[in-house]
Amino acid sequence: MARPQTSRSATTPDLERDACPCGGPTFDDCCARYLEHGDMAPSAEALMRSRYTAFVRHNAAYLLDTWAARTRPATLDFDDAPQWLGLQIKAHRQSDASHAEVEFVAGYKVGGRAQRLHERSRFERSDDGRWRYIDGDLFD
Ligand SMILES: [Zn+2]
Repeated sequence: MARPQTSRSATTPDLERDACPCGGPTFDDCCARYLEHGDMAPSAEALMRSRYTAFVRHNAAYLLDTWAARTRPATLDFDDAPQWLGLQIKAHRQSDASHAEVEFVAGYKVGGRAQRLHERSRFERSDDGRWRYIDGDLFD
């Protein structure tokens, strides 16, 4: 169902008003607080969701900033980026105060074909209190 035209603001891009890519209500009420307002993700799961959203929105600065220094790529481009279709968190396990794993399935489309990325990602919380992505294992 289409939104009434009267509720649209001329200055707010539609993207901000749409459902958050990670599955949250709207981007403004979900991952924007991490991507655009500098809030700290309170858990590895929240960080995982925000990083997925950053991939969808091609926000390289945020992705690099939330990547552990020792595994972080020097640069990130989105030249071959797929079209992301959605995120499903399967499990979130925090083993201690500064280590956690998040298992997820992310849907995407390449060349018109829908694919699934099923990964268990590792995260750590640094001394600055921020969770960061380390690496992940792919499921078949
Ligand atoms: Zn979100």
